[in-house]
Amino acid sequence: MERIGVVGAGAMGRGIAQVAAQAGCAVTLTDVSEPALEAARDAIGASLSRAVRKGKLPGEDAAAALGRIVTGTELACHAGAELVIEAAVERLDVKAAIFRELARAAPGAVRASNTSSLAIREIAGAAGTPLIGLHFFNPAHAMKLVEVILPDGAEGLAPMLEQTLRAWGKTPVRAPDSPGFIVNRCARPFYGEALAMLEEGAKPAAIDAAMVAAGYRMGPFALIDLVGADVNLAASESVARAMGGHPRYHVFDALRRQVVAGRLGRKSGEGFVTPDPGAAGPAPGAAERIEAALVNEAASLLAEGVAEDDIDTAMRLGLNFPRGPFEIARAAGPAAIVARLEALEAAAPAHLKGRYAPAAALRAMESA
Ligand code: NAD
Repeated sequence: MERIGVVGAGAMGRGIAQVAAQAGCAVTLTDVSEPALEAARDAIGASLSRAVRKGKLPGEDAAAALGRIVTGTELACHAGAELVIEAAVERLDVKAAIFRELARAAPGAVRASNTSSLAIREIAGAAGTPLIGLHFFNPAHAMKLVEVILPDGAEGLAPMLEQTLRAWGKTPVRAPDSPGFIVNRCARPFYGEALAMLEEGAKPAAIDAAMVAAGYRMGPFALIDLVGADVNLAASESVARAMGGHPRYHVFDALRRQVVAGRLGRKSGEGFVTPDPGAAGPAPGAAERIEAALVNEAASLLAEGVAEDDIDTAMRLGLNFPRGPFEIARAAGPAAIVARLEALEAAAPAHLKGRYAPAAALRAMESA
């Protein structure tokens, strides 16, 4: 695929446009806002210049990449595109209207959404036209993972999409059309268990220290502060809602209180461990507890037909985790993970009962 359209020139759209242009594709980038397009052109130019300064990209390649991006405010700009990726605001009505119009403006294109929290079939239903999901990670020009969601009937597109994404330097992973796809769903316990321990009286800095000691680049609280407690809360609530309020996706009051108090993390100057985490040694058992919950969540996803290796790859690349959940399970032994979960379940307070029940696939691994 060599002619690529990108709809929405915000944080994600500009990164996706840059990646495709750097790979040699002709890119049309549209947005309803002309200032957003100007800002995107500037940001892509600055990002390419940084790559040149660091010696990662020849100057003439940067100029050529920028020259391959054409911007506009009309979806008709995408008329000749083979693939159009929508990265507009996260609103069902907006996305549905875009896809309805794209079906007319670019009828021959594979049309994809970069949505984080909406189901692909929901957008397709509202738009009345088929689409697929291509979920990039932020910053899109740097993060290697792309989750590929192919609804029934679209499976045949897999080889062509895989080839295109690999040519862009990305690692595609097939994900189910279910809440949070792979990464945003399997990551929930990373934050959730940390918040559960905080509510039990542990210090955020001690929990973070335990995860760093276990090889993670950042602890859960440092990561919440980096991304924003508001963004984390929105993702937590969206998965919890979509999962019908199952206790595995419980939204913790400690997180809600941060948002209400405006302690959002780096962007507000104050968060769980921002500006000063304070000195704390690793909380005993915290890493093992968080990892057991990560394994259980990943095991629950196997029932939806996702491959173990794909989940491990997605968690390593999407979150920079040092190892995937099935690597953890194999290293510790499924029986040890089940024993940790059973102990947690026995001690769980009433509102969390059922949260730690081992997934059927984990039980099967244990008895295999
Ligand atoms: P953003 O707010 O930075 O940019 C959204 C852009 O869409 C804006 O420039 C806006 O002008 C434009 N827009 C609004 N209505 C439009 C319309 N009708 N037609 C065309 N453009 C329109 O948002 P973002 O962070 O880039 O997110 C974009 C999408 O990517 C969302 O669906 C989001 O869920 C998803 N996503 C975001 C991240 C992230 O970390 N930011 C990661 C993965 C996926």
